[in-house]
Amino acid sequence: IKIPVLTIDGPGGAGKGTISGLVAERLGWHLLDSGALYRLTAQAASKHDVALDDETSLALLAAQLDVAFPVQDGQPRTLLEGEDVSRAIRTEQAGERASRVAALPQVREALLQRQRDFQQSPGLVADGRDMGTVVFPDAPLKIFLTASAEERARRRHLQLQEAGVGASLSSLLKEIQVRDARDTQRSVAPLKPADDAITLDTTYLSIPEVVDQLSGLLAQRG
Ligand code: C5P
Repeated sequence: IKIPVLTIDGPGGAGKGTISGLVAERLGWHLLDSGALYRLTAQAASKHDVALDDETSLALLAAQLDVAFPVQDGQPRTLLEGEDVSRAIRTEQAGERASRVAALPQVREALLQRQRDFQQSPGLVADGRDMGTVVFPDAPLKIFLTASAEERARRRHLQLQEAGVGASLSSLLKEIQVRDARDTQRSVAPLKPADDAITLDTTYLSIPEVVDQLSGLLAQRG
């Protein structure tokens, strides 16, 4: 039997990470945070002094990425070559570097099979930009999660404030717009909804409302 996949794609800051985690937990399914793999590739590049335009070396790094996602003291951690980089890969700068690396076709190719290997019983929630278009084109339910750039900047601002990090709303908005442009305009696997995706605009929805809507859609399909 085919193992079911729910793909959740969309721009940064639309709530994909939070929503994907909650839906995976509710269903008892595995979770693929594909953005983390691009962030980790960029992190490995810093660590090994590989330039962000050296496509061949970056693809090799991506193919050989030594990562683990253990749970320690109830917290999910991300290890790169045994080193805890959970926080380091979540900064704005790490996201910016990830989106540069993610624009390189050889890097995307190198990460393709690793992502598909996450499709394990009883099911998978896959979070990213090209989950429904490229990585899991046969997924029975594809969601495209969006929110206005202003709302995404506001959410990110709140998140940073809660983490005790200062940032200006206007610079966050600008960063989001730059990243959106790069992700939607790149030649390989650009950010766009799959033809058969259902678009959910979360600008005016709370997290529980989105999770409920997704659960309803899954129940209809299941
Ligand atoms: O989702 P997250 O913000 O962690 O992703 C970081 C960057 O990785 C994105 O800006 C995007 O450029 C890239 N990415 C991608 N394809 C994916 C997931 C992320 O190109 N499936």
